[in-house]
Amino acid sequence: MTTKTHALAKSESALVPVMGLILLGAAILFTAGFAQAEMLHDSAHDVRHSIGFACH
Ligand SMILES: [Zn+2]
Repeated sequence: MTTKTHALAKSESALVPVMGLILLGAAILFTAGFAQAEMLHDSAHDVRHSIGFACH
């Protein structure tokens, strides 16, 4: 292994936690956004049924 490839491997391994954090953040944002959208949909659905608005 040359010094160059060693340095490259080192910088790539340093990127792994950063990429992991980005993916984790994206996953949390996506999950939170989806859960919130589902919650909003459910509450809007309940309101529609409670006022007798045709929805199905
Ligand atoms: Zn409905």
